[in-house]
Amino acid sequence: MQDRPFEALNVETLGARLGGLDALHTRLGGEPSQWKVREVGDGNLNLVFIVEGGAGSVIVKQALPYVRLVGDSWPLPLKRSFFEYHALTRQARRAPDSVPEIFHFDEAQALIVMEFLSPHIILRKALIAGRQLPRIARDLGLFMARTLFRGSDLAMKASERKADMALFAGNVELCDITENLVFTDPYFAAPLNQHNTPHLDGLVAELRADRDLKVEAQRLKHRFASSAETLVHGDLHTGSVMVTEGETRVIDPEFAFYGPIAFDVGMLLSNYWMSFFSQRGHQGEEPRDNMRQFLLSVIVETWQVFRDEFAHLWRTERNGMLYHRSLFEDQGDPLGAEQALNCLIHDIWTDMLGYAGIEMHRRILGLAHNADFEEIGDQELRAACEARALKLGRHLAVNRHRLQSLDEINALAAMLD
Ligand code: ADP
Ligand code: MG
Ligand code: MG
Ligand code: MG
Repeated sequence: MQDRPFEALNVETLGARLGGLDALHTRLGGEPSQWKVREVGDGNLNLVFIVEGGAGSVIVKQALPYVRLVGDSWPLPLKRSFFEYHALTRQARRAPDSVPEIFHFDEAQALIVMEFLSPHIILRKALIAGRQLPRIARDLGLFMARTLFRGSDLAMKASERKADMALFAGNVELCDITENLVFTDPYFAAPLNQHNTPHLDGLVAELRADRDLKVEAQRLKHRFASSAETLVHGDLHTGSVMVTEGETRVIDPEFAFYGPIAFDVGMLLSNYWMSFFSQRGHQGEEPRDNMRQFLLSVIVETWQVFRDEFAHLWRTERNGMLYHRSLFEDQGDPLGAEQALNCLIHDIWTDMLGYAGIEMHRRILGLAHNADFEEIGDQELRAACEARALKLGRHLAVNRHRLQSLDEINALAAMLD
């Protein structure tokens, strides 16, 4: 298998092609010809199969040499599977129990065999259905603090981090997708853009003529592309999280690269704000006031948990190249280290708000939309929800240096809603 040229799997060929792998037959049991194979990929890029045997099930995820959402007119390297695999192994180490277990990786076939998360469902779907998941704020706040701190020069040996950064520097094409689709295309009439027309035409024109917003988007893009602070997940929206009442797992880190700490945090909180604004489009007869309140509280708690855990790691695991203890604690000056921490958290806060704002725009004006808004059938109602998110997004991106607290921002969100 290792030496064969890449070939896309399908439900008919999978058993025969992968049946010889220990990773599969020890977990699935029985004859490969008896395995039940379903393709369940609902993402934009890759194939995902559930493979069931008498004794168990696994997931097989395979990259395609093009963007699934667009087709073979848009080639995309298979190597993203390599970056996904390496990101998953690092996340598993840095934040135990937060990602699916990996059973096998085949670089040439661009495929990863991993734990089938069941009965987990995609967080985005749960939120659209109005479900309040009690663990997400804590679990994802911890996930972000642990992966982002432990992958940075705050925790790692400089030589190890630089070697790792060199490895992930190859993820050029997926970074390019973010650089263009997130930070640039939404702000001009790029060919792949789409929006809810004609309802949003006026607001879209306003945003594309908004000089302050475009300057901020480009400043954020500059930091995204040049601030290699830590290994980020790179695509941490609510469609990359799988949940049950008692468990939260993060999937799909193929966009991983060394970027700003604030990026994952901003993207995740942005998706909660979008879920908040979409709730009126899903509520039907039953008002979703509790759900909307829940989402705002998740935003507050996620940031709190992130910040507290980051501070805890700063105090207990700051053994990397930066802010060496000999400068502070070892001289009897723990407050010096706290001052440096405050500066860093402040910078993460400010940029996090900017990334959150831009993410709201690209999900409504760009190529890749999210189901939170897309699944609202009444286009006028949908546009009203989207317009509120666009306005909050603009406010966050442009005023991020002046905003003090999430309570203040959530009050603005509630005011718009
Ligand atoms: P893409 O990169 O194409 O977005 P994802 O990794 O997000 O692919 O997977 C697409 C879908 O496949 C997910 O939304 C989820 O429904 C399902 N899926 C992916 N990985 C797992 C897993 N480990 N366990 C269960 N379902 C999974
Ligand atoms: Mg995905
Ligand atoms: Mg998906
Ligand atoms: Mg993906």
